[in-house]
Amino acid sequence: MATVPPVQLSERVHLLPGAVNVVLVVEDGRALVIDSGQGKDGGKRVRRALDAMGIAPCAILTSHAHADHFGGHATLLRRWRVPVHAPPIEAELMRAPLLEPVYLAHGASPPPEMRGPWLMAEPSPVDALLHPGPARIEGFDLVVHDVSGHAHRQVAFEIDDVLIAADAVFGPAVLDRYPLVFGQDAARQLASAAWVGERRTRLAVPGHGEPDAPAPLAQATVAALERVRRTVADAATADVVDAGEILARVAAALDVPDVDLPRWHLNHTTVQAHLQALREAGVLRPRIVGHRLLWGAA
Ligand SMILES: [Zn+2]
Repeated sequence: MATVPPVQLSERVHLLPGAVNVVLVVEDGRALVIDSGQGKDGGKRVRRALDAMGIAPCAILTSHAHADHFGGHATLLRRWRVPVHAPPIEAELMRAPLLEPVYLAHGASPPPEMRGPWLMAEPSPVDALLHPGPARIEGFDLVVHDVSGHAHRQVAFEIDDVLIAADAVFGPAVLDRYPLVFGQDAARQLASAAWVGERRTRLAVPGHGEPDAPAPLAQATVAALERVRRTVADAATADVVDAGEILARVAAALDVPDVDLPRWHLNHTTVQAHLQALREAGVLRPRIVGHRLLWGAA
C-alpha cells in the first residue's frame, strides 16, 4: 500500500490522509495519535509515518469506537505501549470489539461477513476516559468536544486552529457515495453536525474526506442528514409499514446502490436511529401487529 505523506495543517497538526483520516499532533519529537485507521494495515500506515518523521507517540486518542477508527491501535501498542484515551461507552466497545457486529446484528451472534476488520477491530485497552472540556494530555493542551450521534459518545478535538471533527461531518464526495449517512442517534447527529458549522476554527478535519472550513463541511452533512430524515418520515407516514419496508423505500428514494450483508445491517441501524428520533419528535409511532413492527404517523 502506497503511503501518502502527511499534510501539515497547522504548527502542530499533521494529517495522514486516507480512507480514514488519522491526525498526528507533533511537538518536540513526540506525537499524540488521533485515531489509527482500520485493522493492521491502518496501524502499520501510522507506524510508517511516525518512523518517517522520526517521532514516537506519547498517547493514542480515540474519537469513537467504530472499528475503522481504532482498528490500528493494537498494532501501534505492540510497538509503543502508550496510554489510550477514549470517551465513556466507546471505551467499553474497544475493550470488547465483538460488541460492534453484535449490536449491528440486533444482538445476535454476528455472521462471519461482519467479523472482518471493517466492523470488528482487535481489542484495545483504554487507560483514561475523555470528557468534554479543556484537557491536558501528555503536556498537550487541547479541547475535547461532544459530537455524539454518529456514534453514541463520539468526541472531536480542537488543537491550534483545527477541529478534528471525526465522523460528525463528512466530505461532499463521501456523502454522494453514501447518501444514507450512518448514525446511531439521529437527533444528536444532526445537532452535532450543525454545531461544527458554528465553529470558528480555520479548518475542520472530517473522519472521511478532505479538510475544509467547518461551515461547508457542516452544511453538506446537515443537508444529507435532513434528506435522510425527510425520506424516512415520508416512507413511514404514507401508510403503516414494516420497518424493513421503510428501509427498502428509503434506499430507493436516495438511490442507494445494492448492498452486501454488512452494509444492510449498517443501513438498517441508521433507519432505526431516524425512526426513534422521529418518534421522539412526535412525528411517528411504532406498533406491534401480528409480530410485525409497524411504523406510521403518530
Ligand atoms: Zn464512524
